[in-house]
Amino acid sequence: MKRYFLHTFGCQMNVSDSLRMGEVLAALSYAPTQSCEDADLIILNSCAIREKAEEKLISALGRYRLVKMSRQALIGVGGCVAQQEKERLLRRAPFVDFVFGPDAIGKLPEILRRVEADRIRVVETAFVDSEQYVFARADPQTSRGKVTEFVTVMKGCDNVCSFCVVPHTRGREVSRPHREVLAEVADLASVGVREVTLIGQNVNSYRGGISFAQLLLRVAQVPDIERVRFTTSHPHDLSDELIDAFKEEAKIAPHFHLPVQSGSDRVLERMRRDYTVAEYLERLAALRQARPGIAVTTDIIVGFPGETEEDFQRTLALTRSARFDNQFSFIFSARPKTAAGLREKEWGAIPREVKVERLERLQKAQRQISGEIMAEQVGEVLEVLVEGSSKFNPAKRFGRTAENRSVNFDGGAPAGALARVAIERSSPNALAGVELS
Ligand code: SAM
Ligand code: SF4
Repeated sequence: MKRYFLHTFGCQMNVSDSLRMGEVLAALSYAPTQSCEDADLIILNSCAIREKAEEKLISALGRYRLVKMSRQALIGVGGCVAQQEKERLLRRAPFVDFVFGPDAIGKLPEILRRVEADRIRVVETAFVDSEQYVFARADPQTSRGKVTEFVTVMKGCDNVCSFCVVPHTRGREVSRPHREVLAEVADLASVGVREVTLIGQNVNSYRGGISFAQLLLRVAQVPDIERVRFTTSHPHDLSDELIDAFKEEAKIAPHFHLPVQSGSDRVLERMRRDYTVAEYLERLAALRQARPGIAVTTDIIVGFPGETEEDFQRTLALTRSARFDNQFSFIFSARPKTAAGLREKEWGAIPREVKVERLERLQKAQRQISGEIMAEQVGEVLEVLVEGSSKFNPAKRFGRTAENRSVNFDGGAPAGALARVAIERSSPNALAGVELS
């Protein structure tokens, strides 16, 4: 039996794509291996969202080249860099055998056949348009033993945020028909999965036969599913219907990831985000009214071209007034073909040291807020969906609250159980406590 080694970079969408690649390879009698030295086939599933992710790909490729030299392994690059660079990647890395985009995962058998039998290098990066696109169905057996799983509900993105490469690498939005989503969730529940996260770049514009709010309500009805989550939503089309779903259905977990990107209207306009800070805060207030206590997380970019200290101060002020539970903040990275990448100089590139210093200030402010919110949980008894033993201490159990807060605790509840945990300590990232019998 041949063995494959898969290295995944980037977002949840890539993690999910890698699982599908594994399933396609299993059908070709490939077995996974954890060590690239044993592999006959090495696949890198790449990410293009920031320059750093691309640099990581290039340095990893250098390492795998040595394996190729020692045992003639094939090397393929999939994902967003592959989609963007196409033939250029083959020129840059002459030892790469094939390059394939996110829409070509189903074509892996044919690509491998051509590489092996015809001894040619292959580039397969066509987008599949809406009518023809077939979402790969997850094999439920690969999820046996897992408590929580991701389910793809759409691909691509029709927005044009000026900093973002995703519309160029993942193409137009295509929604997965709701019946397929529901069938996959039911399959996952039948092998023990208790929580699903519906994923897409902008789930709010889901159009798979019913609205996204209706989809969430239906997924929540699937027997044995305890919690439903989703990511990501764009604030400009966060509907009242979706907010109302939080009132209606307790199984929709009280956590909302709502990327704001900046606290300055001037910057938001250049980012082409289509909302103002006031509009964002109005949506946030409506959400918090619909489900008091809901945890809200966000994404922020600092050092966007032309961002002044005053703009940045507005982002800091928003971070404090919105009191996000957490945020993923990034330094702006100019991306090929994007409006902000092309106009960086014209709008005013921000020096790297200014970007780094702003990021540090922002993250410090967020750490303090996260620390305060987590400290407020101490003394509470929280319901925790147990995922298994703790990474840090195998003698302890690990799970998450409905708000998606990590909890390490003393107890014996099995994976998949809902445990009641008395919270005794906190840090900005996790809670610790004891299970109540
Ligand atoms: N679709 C999601 C949305 O609109 O919120 C975002 C998807 S993107 C994979 C995740 C995050 O990466 C974005 O929210 C943004 O903060 C960040 N990001 C995207 N392009 C970036 C760039 N050129 N430089 C820095 N961060 C970027
Ligand atoms: Fe990128 Fe904007 Fe689409 Fe998100 S909504 S994937 S940031 S273009």
